[in-house]
Amino acid sequence: MNSLNLGVFYLTKETKEIDLYKKLLAKFKDSVILGNALSTIYWDMETYMPEKGIEQRSEEIAMISGLIHEKNVDPEIGSLLQEIKAHKNYDKLADDLKRNLYLLQRDYDQNTKLPIEFVKTFAKQSALAVEIWKKALAESNYELFKPELAKNIELVKQRAKYLDPTKEPLDVLIDLQEPGFTTEILDKLFSELRDGLVPLIKKCVESKNQPDYSILERECPLDIQKQFSNEIAELVKYDLKRGRIDETVHPFTTGFYDDVRITTRYFLNDFTSSFFAVLHEAGHGLYELNMPVKYKYQPIGFYSSGGVHEAQSRFIENIVGRSIEFWKFYFPRFKELTGEIFADLEFDDFLRAINKVTPSFIRVEADPVTYSMHIIIRHEIEKDIFSGKLSVDDLPKAWNQKYKEYLGIDVKNDAEGVLQDIHWSGGGFGGFPSYAIGNIMDGQLLWKMEQDIPDWREQVKKGEIGKIVDWLATNVHQKGNMYDPFDLIKEVTGKELSTKYYLDYLNKEFAKFYDI
Ligand code: ZN
Repeated sequence: MNSLNLGVFYLTKETKEIDLYKKLLAKFKDSVILGNALSTIYWDMETYMPEKGIEQRSEEIAMISGLIHEKNVDPEIGSLLQEIKAHKNYDKLADDLKRNLYLLQRDYDQNTKLPIEFVKTFAKQSALAVEIWKKALAESNYELFKPELAKNIELVKQRAKYLDPTKEPLDVLIDLQEPGFTTEILDKLFSELRDGLVPLIKKCVESKNQPDYSILERECPLDIQKQFSNEIAELVKYDLKRGRIDETVHPFTTGFYDDVRITTRYFLNDFTSSFFAVLHEAGHGLYELNMPVKYKYQPIGFYSSGGVHEAQSRFIENIVGRSIEFWKFYFPRFKELTGEIFADLEFDDFLRAINKVTPSFIRVEADPVTYSMHIIIRHEIEKDIFSGKLSVDDLPKAWNQKYKEYLGIDVKNDAEGVLQDIHWSGGGFGGFPSYAIGNIMDGQLLWKMEQDIPDWREQVKKGEIGKIVDWLATNVHQKGNMYDPFDLIKEVTGKELSTKYYLDYLNKEFAKFYDI
């Protein structure tokens, strides 16, 4: 390798040109481009693919996935990293370059530590388990799924051991989703959150002044709902020239930089489902659309973590989209578009209905106050499974007990209980905490944003969301993956991540909707 170039590079921090480094990034760029092609294929499968196209599409997916894997485990990545790190001037590297190298090493280690046979076994077992889970869910038959779940648990433990035998398996899995987070950190955050949420939920549920959700369940034609989608996406600055909105069974966001697509689903008798899904996905979309262009195709040009991503979507959906101020602006337009349908609706009744707190069985349908409880319950159960305290035999009982204890509801069957979600059948353990971490981060981001933009609520009232989005872009989106999530929040807010801010926000906000 040309060490002269290397030397020149290291002496000038500003210079971004280096043979070794360039070579390494070029390899990464190849993987990203293939990965984006794969995302577009998945998007097509979920949206417009004709029914019989599945076989062709599967062949494309298999081939591209194989190519990506080959590129990710290329031994030259390992030797390039070694060579650069061994250089005497490595320490003088600029922070962004060092961060790129750190992330490349982290990915490379994760990709190469798993034996290929194990990867295949894992993929085969989880595909099979997903199929059996679907059947078990339809029949509400936990016994059918139980042996597959047991196998999945053993495999994810094995996976964690391959990745880092020195750590507790659950910590390894959590770190894959939220780098820097551990069971210990989560235990502290989640116990604070639980202690704050349980009394708030109780107060809302026991309030005599209950919102009437049924006023929202009037038939609202899909063309009107689609009009909402385009209007509100643009209102929150989601760029429809660099994105688009389509329909899928489960809403999602995919793509990055100049092609970031979101999806939604429409229900004739509940327009709120799509309305808030669009705001949510547009929030995810903004994060991707606003990534730092100068780091495109580099590891630091990506998002920090699933939790940070979720913080962006829920900020737009809940903090902005369910606020009084948002509806002060949008309610007249909403009435104009819906004409006769909601003509008799009073503003207060409407606002309280879209903020109704109802302990429920299914996380994806939960309101902003009870939502995190679903995550806390699952995290506590995952901890007990991994510590050996809880066996798959006792899982449904433990699940139902926690729903009773924390949310005060009786789970009637396993379909609405332990079987409700696809994640475990695909081997996705340790990934749930991100959803609640996003909420916690939102509270703290809001706290900081209120100092920087004290009149943000007045602006929202006028339909001006630009400054808020700019604030998120400058403070979070543009930082890409320069920081692990825990450090990012400290960098932006000057404080360690704490539940205090989120609980303060919820308590204040929901006092407006309930007599509490
Ligand atoms: Zn989301």
